[in-house]
Amino acid sequence: MHDILCVGRIFNKNSWTFHLLYYIISQEVKKNMKCPFCNQPDSKVIDSRPAEEGTVVRRRRECAECKRRFTTYEKVEGIPLVVIKKNGDRQTYDRNKILKGVLRACEKRPISASNIEEAMEKIEHRVLSSCDKEVSSHMIGEIVMDELKKLDDVAYVRFASVYRQFKDINTFMDELKLLLDDQEE
Ligand SMILES: [Zn+2]
Repeated sequence: MHDILCVGRIFNKNSWTFHLLYYIISQEVKKNMKCPFCNQPDSKVIDSRPAEEGTVVRRRRECAECKRRFTTYEKVEGIPLVVIKKNGDRQTYDRNKILKGVLRACEKRPISASNIEEAMEKIEHRVLSSCDKEVSSHMIGEIVMDELKKLDDVAYVRFASVYRQFKDINTFMDELKLLLDDQEE
């Protein structure tokens, strides 16, 4: 909780101002921590550590309902991350949108759920730690492709074909060729 520690440096950690700020920030963080498996909002923190210079906090959580475990990367600022779309529209960052795309790309591939979760963690970690308050959907797409490329070739090409909207078979083949060249290196 780097941000809170910073606040603690400004205010005395025993002061009511510090406790009030701590409360506000933790409530804000809680709002977005639904279980990804059953959507239930209550979870218990098992492990917590700052990641990427403290602007992001990584938490291992256990759902109070289904007992499954998941990891969250939380930006402790109270202001949600904004995604700028290609047409300039702005949307609140939504992890599930990325997850849906990743799952679709990995469908029926020999990739374990834990590998998908791991890739998802890396993606989210990179998205959240590489920007301030806004990130372009283009950059998110590039990060997802980069991580999928490490995970599974077919998943990567599937995602890239949707994301880059290959206009014809030639651009698709170019992408495939790049992929194969990469592997030969
Ligand atoms: Zn659950």
